[in-house]
Amino acid sequence: MTDTSIATTAGHVPADLPTRIQHYIDGQFVDSTDGETFDVLDPVSNETYLQAAAGKKADIDLAVAAAKRAFDDGPWPRMLPRQRSRVLHKIADIVESRDARLAELESFDSGLPISQALGQARRAAENFRFFADLIVAHADDTYKVPGRQINYVNRKPIGVAGLITPWNTPFMLESWKLGPALATGNTVVLKPAEFTPLSASLWAGIFEEAGVPAGVFNLVNGLGEAAGDALVKHPDVPLISFTGESSTGQLIFGNAAPYLKGLSMELGGKSPAVVFADADLETAINATVFGVFSLNGERCTAGSRILVERSVYDEFVERYAAQASRVVVGYPHDPATEVGALVHPEHYEKVMSYVELGKTEGRLVAGGGRPDGFSTGNFVAPTVFADVAPDARIFQEEIFGPVVAITPFDTDEEALALANGVKYGLAAYVWTNDLKRAHNFAQAVEAGMVWLNSNNVRDLRTPFGGVKASGLGHEGGYRSIDFYTDQQAVHITLGEVHNPTFGKVPASPREEIAEAAESEDG
Ligand code: NAD
Repeated sequence: MTDTSIATTAGHVPADLPTRIQHYIDGQFVDSTDGETFDVLDPVSNETYLQAAAGKKADIDLAVAAAKRAFDDGPWPRMLPRQRSRVLHKIADIVESRDARLAELESFDSGLPISQALGQARRAAENFRFFADLIVAHADDTYKVPGRQINYVNRKPIGVAGLITPWNTPFMLESWKLGPALATGNTVVLKPAEFTPLSASLWAGIFEEAGVPAGVFNLVNGLGEAAGDALVKHPDVPLISFTGESSTGQLIFGNAAPYLKGLSMELGGKSPAVVFADADLETAINATVFGVFSLNGERCTAGSRILVERSVYDEFVERYAAQASRVVVGYPHDPATEVGALVHPEHYEKVMSYVELGKTEGRLVAGGGRPDGFSTGNFVAPTVFADVAPDARIFQEEIFGPVVAITPFDTDEEALALANGVKYGLAAYVWTNDLKRAHNFAQAVEAGMVWLNSNNVRDLRTPFGGVKASGLGHEGGYRSIDFYTDQQAVHITLGEVHNPTFGKVPASPREEIAEAAESEDG
């Protein structure tokens, strides 16, 4: 069952690959205070190619202190939005001008196909450009009470933002947090994922070149339970923006609780793609194949459960399995590759354990193991299980690899119950030509984002986020600006001062106290 197309060009090592990565604190590249490092593997050979500084509490303390100084005393939070915007546009220009090199390094480090890594590098530039534009166009509210009062919103950066990111599309996901955090005048400490630290190390040079002052951007590499944990528990970090697994999110939630931090949580998913019989089947098949196998299936919004109306189920499964078998598995740097190598042997073992489990829970119709021609590296053939029951673990649990479960349904109600019958609620995709059904389904499905007759194509102005175990809060567009800023309300009296006098005997005390109670909150 592992027949699959293969792109066979041999492995490739980028020129000038670093062998050592340090932290970047207060404008300087530095080792860990205790000198410790951890190994970074490349996912094609699974050999260590890099030693990265292993940050711990002492390193986080230094990075937070630098970021706090840059926030309290430095120019960045005090600059005009237009000035910060210019720097952000310059960052976007630099990222765009180096997209090929960025993609080459990202693809080597993460195993993502080079063509998709290139798209992610460009999206990272676009994230900076978007927030550079948004911050100068941004207006805040003013409320007038005629003749009496003006109230306005004084929006302020909050301080040191802690940014914790995962290993899937690392550079792009970092840009997603760095763009709005910096645009709004905060300073940051980034803790990138330990499986893929290579591209994150490039930010320091890019920011320096673009004119970001020292101390505004700080980077500490290291393991989640050491460096990440210290960042979450640091009292001088009022905000944590986290993207990663739901279970890690729960832990961070608890660890941040004593400090009452602002939290943004973008977590896991097990998103349904629902195909009704009246859909354009050809387009739906193309989209659902791409929806789960792009980015190696290591995609939070992957449509990893496909629900298909019974009258077209057999045809769908047959055509889907045939197409999945033609998906080109190959070396990440090969432009023909559609599915590359999974990020790390630990993750490969996890995905493979689900593939084996799937053989007991569903009917294997494509893939099912290591693709022919790849005896080493973290390669998994695009794998399709049909007839998967809703209580199967491969239906319920996030696999985060090129593995999909297909399940039939008979009615709209059953489709909705299946779609909603998991703990996650990140995305949903609906394929139908019936307008009423499409909107009714979209509004009832428990998902933060819904695409109707569409793949995952996102306008940067729209909210991004999940419900249930998929996240807390929404970022995207002005919602990101809201997360990274305080909105202080300032009230100004224009007329007579509204000042009930306590402590003296009024002419009519009852009336005066009643009037005061009417117009005061809290
Ligand atoms: P992970 O939760 O294992 O790690 C994410 C980050 O958290 C890493 O930097 C890690 O070092 C750090 N971390 C781990 N333990 C920590 C702790 N105790 N305290 C502080 N930090 C800690 O996730 P992953 O395996 O790197 O990424 C894959 C997951 O991310 C999947 O579940 C995927 O769905 C999710 N994801 C979600 C979105 C989204 O926007 N909803 C986007 C991409 C990925």
